Amino acid sequence: MLTSLRRIVLEFSQNTELDSALHRIVSQIKQVMKTDCCSIYLADHQHQHLVLMSSDGLAKDSLGQTTVGFTEGVVGLVAQREEPLNIANAKLHPHFVHAPEVKEDNFNAFLGTPIIHQRKLLGVIAIQQESARFFNENEEAFIVTLAAQIATSMANAEASGLIAFKQGHHQWNKAVQGVAGSTGIALAPMLMVQPHADLASIAVTKISNVSEQVARFEQAVIKTRNDYNVMASKLENIIVDNSLDIFELYKQLLDKANLGREISDKIAQSWSAESALKLVIDNYVVQFESLEDPYLRERSSDIKDLGNRLLFNLQSLNTVAKSTPENFILVAEDVTASMVAEYQHQGLKGIVSLRGSNNSHAAILARALALPAVMGIERIPLGKLDKKLCIIDGYSGELFVDPNDALIREYEHLIIEEDALADKVKEVEQLAAETPDGKNVELFLNAGLSTGFDHSVNSGAAGIGLYRTEIPFMNKSCFPSELEQTALYQQVLHGFPEKTVTMRTLDVGGDKSLPYFPIQEDNPFLGWRGIRITLDHPEIFLVQVRAMMRANVESKNLEIMLPMIASVNEVDDAIRLINQAYYELSSELEIEQQKSLVRPRIGIMIEVPSVIFQLGELASKVDFFSVGSNDLTQYLLAVDRNNARVANIFSSYHPAVLKALTMIAEESNKYNVPLSFCGELASEPAGALLLMAMGYEKLSMNPHNISRIKWVIRHVSFNDAKRILQKSLTFSNTKQVHSYLNEQLELLGLGGFIRAGM
Ligand code: PEP
Ligand code: MG
Repeated sequence: MLTSLRRIVLEFSQNTELDSALHRIVSQIKQVMKTDCCSIYLADHQHQHLVLMSSDGLAKDSLGQTTVGFTEGVVGLVAQREEPLNIANAKLHPHFVHAPEVKEDNFNAFLGTPIIHQRKLLGVIAIQQESARFFNENEEAFIVTLAAQIATSMANAEASGLIAFKQGHHQWNKAVQGVAGSTGIALAPMLMVQPHADLASIAVTKISNVSEQVARFEQAVIKTRNDYNVMASKLENIIVDNSLDIFELYKQLLDKANLGREISDKIAQSWSAESALKLVIDNYVVQFESLEDPYLRERSSDIKDLGNRLLFNLQSLNTVAKSTPENFILVAEDVTASMVAEYQHQGLKGIVSLRGSNNSHAAILARALALPAVMGIERIPLGKLDKKLCIIDGYSGELFVDPNDALIREYEHLIIEEDALADKVKEVEQLAAETPDGKNVELFLNAGLSTGFDHSVNSGAAGIGLYRTEIPFMNKSCFPSELEQTALYQQVLHGFPEKTVTMRTLDVGGDKSLPYFPIQEDNPFLGWRGIRITLDHPEIFLVQVRAMMRANVESKNLEIMLPMIASVNEVDDAIRLINQAYYELSSELEIEQQKSLVRPRIGIMIEVPSVIFQLGELASKVDFFSVGSNDLTQYLLAVDRNNARVANIFSSYHPAVLKALTMIAEESNKYNVPLSFCGELASEPAGALLLMAMGYEKLSMNPHNISRIKWVIRHVSFNDAKRILQKSLTFSNTKQVHSYLNEQLELLGLGGFIRAGM
């Protein structure tokens, strides 16, 4: 039984066509269970019914036609109760409904089990038999196990079978769910892009003309380097943050000291240039793909991208000028940063990538270019997508393929509204974040990933509330030197003259690790992270804070912030090191510079719950607190912020989180410590209003949200915000808080900020 189960489940998961997968599985189940009939019904939640999709035993012409209400008949009862139902004689059951078209008159015994994925009913498997008998325990266990195991594949297959449904009898207009990579909406035909050259198709061969192969390879490297220069220059006027570092990384990898040398060594061992390239790249890809860290795993696609481009140049293939439609959504198995760079300017409206997440460079670039992106849509039949019209919703991570006219009209309307909203909020960009009844809040930028120096000068931000320093460390092949860091920090500090820039010391570990400093842990979020690492490595910490203070000599607008503080002694140790760096520097600098050296204000992030109960002690040691709700929520609720399976219970609107945030505001006020907020909650309309009402007067957020949040604050009175906060604090579960807040935003005319459309 177990072998059959594994075989059936595996075959089902490997089938890319839902129709044929269902057809195959019902026959297999019927055969293995030696019954007379097996059928699968799929749930259509929009119409609140189940559709008979596949059956080995019921009338063929009823497939795709017969529907059963969610509470109708014995099949409906399985759906309603969400548990197996084993009946010796279904016809005698009070819920039995006769459906003459399916021709089930001969069947008596019935065993039904629901197929459920992440609490959502996907369908029902029904087994029927002529003889009137109860199915035995083993049979019941088999079908329940099978249903649980195919549920995930079914959730994906349902998406991949979307087109098949639509061509058939049912126009479901269901969305395919992916990961929201970059917000916004796009409606355009898809343009399927294949990598120009594919290393996977190379058969490795040995050669005798080594020097000729070396020369070819060197030429390809020069050409590839040049390609990346061209791509970067195409984008450099548009992108002002460090997203373009990926091209620098590619160029570094090409160096003789890196991949370039390994490939040359392989050629010296008589492999052809293409074979040497393939052997080295494949080896790296396998190594990267096997890493646990999601950021590093993503780098395998960068390496593949680099390899394919080198191959393209090696083979001297001419780019096939693919005619690009006027407007299009780029779709590829693995959209890479260079693909985005290549196609942008040419009517690119959005991105769909089967692989990747919001950590991939393609998503980072998409956000920098304000292009909606949906990532990680697996098992959608790529071959069927080219030129098909689609809608992508970068807010929800949904993709609609071949939408019907009503949906197109709806989304066209939403796009017009989105554009109008963007224009409208732009009007308040340079105005104060002040409520109609005179309450002022300062809005700061979260930077580092998307610093946007030029952009920020005009972004209406009061400064940088959180500069994440780890990203520049991630794109390097070793720790950046003090000089290198000084130059980078100087650029940031000088980009905000007269405005405060709060730089956070290195916060790696958890989901962020450095390629040259791997950390293997079972529970990385509870492990060696943030300040714990830098205190254990004072040489890294000291170099960083020295670089920050050096960079601050002229601008004098630096504040230093310590991440992941969980205990008072960590603050003592960090301050001691900062003081040491300050005194060392003051004796090292030229006399003139010494006079300008200032010891910056030092603050801590409030993101580990333990410090909430030690704010009194901490207040006497630091100059400010800044709340990081992303981690605070994760640690208060014990919900991994990166785990998609528990994403639905990660919410900063959980009553316990709201109470903790209120308490932090009250305590900071009591101890007279300046307080700011740099978690994602501040960039959400409801979040910003609640925080303002709690007493947070400095909110830091993504540059795209500054004017949106300004608009919200300028349209809601402080009194209303306080009323909303008071009521929100009375609820006992997150759902109630969410629905109350959504209702309030709609009533205040702010619904357009929480969903697509006004
Ligand atoms: C936070 O945890 O809320 C925060 C701002 O830091 P990060 O998201 O970088 O961990
Ligand atoms: Mg954090």
